Amino acid sequence: MRVGQLRRWLLMRGAESFEAMTDLPKALRVELANAFTPFAGRVVKHQTADDATHKLVLEFGDGGRIECVLIQDAGRRTACISTQVGCGMGCVFCASGIDGVDRNLTVGEIVEQLVRLRNLPGPRNEPSPEGVERLSHIVVMGMGEPLANLDNLLEALEIATAKDGLGIGARHITISTVGLPAKIRRLAESGKQYHLAVSLHAPNDALRNRIVPTNDKTGMDAILAAAAEFFEKTGRQVTYEYVLLGELNDRPAHARELVAVLRGRRAHVNVIPFNEVEGLPYQRPTDLALQTFIEALENGGISVKVRKRKGSQIDAACGQLRRKTLQAPG
Ligand code: SAH
Repeated sequence: MRVGQLRRWLLMRGAESFEAMTDLPKALRVELANAFTPFAGRVVKHQTADDATHKLVLEFGDGGRIECVLIQDAGRRTACISTQVGCGMGCVFCASGIDGVDRNLTVGEIVEQLVRLRNLPGPRNEPSPEGVERLSHIVVMGMGEPLANLDNLLEALEIATAKDGLGIGARHITISTVGLPAKIRRLAESGKQYHLAVSLHAPNDALRNRIVPTNDKTGMDAILAAAAEFFEKTGRQVTYEYVLLGELNDRPAHARELVAVLRGRRAHVNVIPFNEVEGLPYQRPTDLALQTFIEALENGGISVKVRKRKGSQIDAACGQLRRKTLQAPG
């Protein structure tokens, strides 16, 4: 019974201390507070942008730091969460992988990000009967490669989707991967309705090898085949992410080649104009290059969205704030 009460307070009612759990006996609350903390990490940085985007940098007991973001617009409350401290994939344009990977996050550390973000004030301030505003969506697009930590991620998402957990619909959860074929198949076999996004970033192996180093071993064919299986098994259309890097992969010829690769795949493409990372030599595409690229995909019959830029004011893009806190602690 006590465990159920604790679980409800933390997961449903937004308590951040044992003291706040008012239906527990006072003596028990004191005992709990002496022996435990409700969260494993602490917030070492909290930034808020004008568009109600919040970014937290969390530090865990071993000093490992990760970041997570709350994005609020159009009635949505989306948590963007990390699955690893650092990242081992080494995509050349990404801030998260610059120093490699330290370790996987635990189930609790993944859930903690969701709970802490959920507990932040909403833009509309419409708390539910429990007194907290719910998260509507999760994107697993923070630091790390989610499919490299699939067991812990799946367990955390069980808690996120549970009715007596965070109550988020599985169809509102997107897992973004660099493309690990065996793990994509395992995810498909889990029978969950999570949405899969594959970071493609190039229309052929030669270019993808330069942008996504792990492609050298994997190859695009194996990734596309696994994604096709994912679609067959789950009935969920796969999104392909394509970070548009000025002069590198943003030419009309690249768009036409991408059309040819994706033709017949019921794919959806999410174009992400590169967010500049300090110290990296890559550039945003020009507006003209972006427009031309999108039109070429649309003309080829591909459904395209451009990812909106939120929270750029607070380095919300892609592992950038954590790096700043590592360079200048505090
Ligand atoms: N490891 C996962 C999650 C990465 S973050 C993956 O590879 O998909 C989610 C998306 O943001 C990925 O497509 C990633 O390539 C992209 N991304 C990373 N850094 C970026 C940057 N500086 N600008 C734009 N997109 C970036």
